[in-house]
Amino acid sequence: RNEGLGSWPARRARKTPRLPALVHDGTTLTYAGLLGRVARLARALRGLGVRPGDRVAYLGPNHPSFLESLFATGMLGGIFVPLNTRLAGPEIAYQLDDSGASVLVHAPSHAELVDGLPGPRERVALGGGYEELLAAADGDPLDLPVALDDPCMIMYTSGTTGPPKGATLTHGNITWNAVNVLIDHDLVAGEVALVSAPLFHTAGLNMLTLPVLLKGGTCVLVAAFDPAATLSLIEEHRVTFMFGVPTMFQRVAREPGWAGADLSSLRILTCGGAPVPPSLIETYQRRGLTFLQGYGMTEAAPGALFLDAEHAVSKAGSAGVPHFFSDVRVVGPDMADAAPGETGEIVVQGPHVMRGYWGRPDDTAAAFSDGWFRSGDAARLDGDGYAFIVDRIKDMIVSGGENVYPAEVEHAILAASPDVVECAVIGVPDDTWGEVGRAVVVPRPGADLDPEKVLAALSGRLARYKIPKSAVLAAEIPRNAAGKILKARLREEYGGA
Ligand code: ATP
Ligand code: MG
Repeated sequence: RNEGLGSWPARRARKTPRLPALVHDGTTLTYAGLLGRVARLARALRGLGVRPGDRVAYLGPNHPSFLESLFATGMLGGIFVPLNTRLAGPEIAYQLDDSGASVLVHAPSHAELVDGLPGPRERVALGGGYEELLAAADGDPLDLPVALDDPCMIMYTSGTTGPPKGATLTHGNITWNAVNVLIDHDLVAGEVALVSAPLFHTAGLNMLTLPVLLKGGTCVLVAAFDPAATLSLIEEHRVTFMFGVPTMFQRVAREPGWAGADLSSLRILTCGGAPVPPSLIETYQRRGLTFLQGYGMTEAAPGALFLDAEHAVSKAGSAGVPHFFSDVRVVGPDMADAAPGETGEIVVQGPHVMRGYWGRPDDTAAAFSDGWFRSGDAARLDGDGYAFIVDRIKDMIVSGGENVYPAEVEHAILAASPDVVECAVIGVPDDTWGEVGRAVVVPRPGADLDPEKVLAALSGRLARYKIPKSAVLAAEIPRNAAGKILKARLREEYGGA
């Protein structure tokens, strides 16, 4: 019996065969149509030698074939490996080698990059070999035993604190996360999701697309996010559910068509990956829309905390409370619970949390204490149990025995110096204090920015020990493919005494 994701298309086709599952570029695939394509692809992949436990990688922008490949791999008991299209050739080569993928399905846009890769042995091009394989295959769904505990996916972390690690997620992990979303976001069968966040990242796939498909809704897949097109797609498809990082929602609200757009179909907006600025919440509230906010990580498939719409304003800045089948604590180094208001590390437990990293027993052992996954994030709980994320523990600066979290200093710099468009604060060695902060600031184009004045503007806004002792100008802040600041690279470049 197949209990895993590979059985979802057949289960949906049994229940809602004629409902639209995927919409892309003017074409619609019903649940029955999806099952037909998944069944043929699963047999085609078997023909290419894929056996239970083997890895099938996918490289390309949002497209129905991403989900077909995921479900087909699951139907034959294989493990799906989504790759980030923004990675460079050597980074993709590393993830293919690390996961040991034997097949790579890729978009035509990546043909040249794929040609230059040493592996894997089988490469299937969308639009070419992919459709030929499907046309030649038998459409009778495979019926292989797959258990909820079997691995379903290797999803790489964003590589913010070190090289990306492959989180091995089981069918159960993904299913329980989807169930948490169904419960906590009140999904209904008629949901229409606009999927413009990339499917290869955990949020676009696991917080939006898969829960909607589990419930029998429709996913409108968009290859590249475009704020103007977003407004017309919402109107055209009567979209009910969207996910984005705060900047995506900000760009949509700045569109000239924003004021006149019909947004009456929208019901659920989820925002994650970074705190949502209060001004953005107000802009959407004026249109009668409120964000659900989330906190999670690839290793937790990913949802751990969420803030419901009701508390968006009263608990502004909070990442909320645990999802229904998730348990979250804030603990000290001894794993004892931190008191309300006290900063500690977020740890997570639940049926959605991975068992380990692919091929990395040491990293896996280091990531768990007493069965709790250690997020590496500092946070505090308020008296009502609402969590406030502080920063990554690895980025904390210890100055004269006091802990300084760079995120707080960075927010203060941006608020105090309008001529700074971006900044990052790192720790540098200091004879007196052990370590002191250094601000790396990017000036607004055309601005004549004096780094000393950036520091002076902080006095009165922050405790003296939190104010960086030096500031340097930079043309840009290095970020990874997920858009997150690479603090380790900044420390290499600007961390000298
Ligand atoms: P790596 O683990 O490879 O260093 P990463 O941690 O950035 O990379 P992801 O799993 O994509 O990889 O990101 C999870 C992290 O994102 C969390 O541990 C946290 O630091 C950050 N994050 C997620 N949601 C929020 C949020 N709502 N507010 C603040 N930070 C968040
Ligand atoms: Mg991480």
